Amino acid sequence: MLPVESVAAPEENPAFSCRQCGTCCRGRGGIILRRKDSLRLAAHLGLTTQEFMDRYTRKRQGKYELICGQDGCCVFFSSPGACAVHEARPDICRAWPFFRGNLIDEQSFALAAAYCPGINRECSFEQFVAEGREYLAQADLICRADEQDAPRALILETAAEQKVGKP
Ligand code: SF4
Ligand code: SF4
Repeated sequence: MLPVESVAAPEENPAFSCRQCGTCCRGRGGIILRRKDSLRLAAHLGLTTQEFMDRYTRKRQGKYELICGQDGCCVFFSSPGACAVHEARPDICRAWPFFRGNLIDEQSFALAAAYCPGINRECSFEQFVAEGREYLAQADLICRADEQDAPRALILETAAEQKVGKP
């Protein structure tokens, strides 16, 4: 039996603090895996990478993602609000709610705040963006646009934006 741990550490900060409600683990699909996520998860579960890929992933639109259980939730979700692989969870799970869309578009941020009770609705969009960028950089979660397995949500600057930014 897999150990069940909380979805996210209850880190306190002004813009976001996970309430461990599990809502973000219930969506069907979309947990995109980078190669390093698969290696980390396979090691955590005591499986070979191929065994892990065969059991827990599927390929969609050229990228691998975690499969869902019969309840439609992420295969590693255990109600209420618990992740069975918390220590080894994918980068995309570590990064939520600081996804590109929520960091560049205030309307997306507002929608995310209505969906995720961990987002502090009293904080400004600017505060959320500043905190998110700092967290993503410190946690080494930002992907480059040319990384083939990068989830789009973790690419903060598109290839075109990176070119513009070059001297
Ligand atoms: S929806 Fe928000 S508060 Fe709930 S588990 Fe996900 S990140 Fe945490
Ligand atoms: S891996 Fe864990 S944190 Fe990520 S969606 Fe699945 S249950 Fe939630």
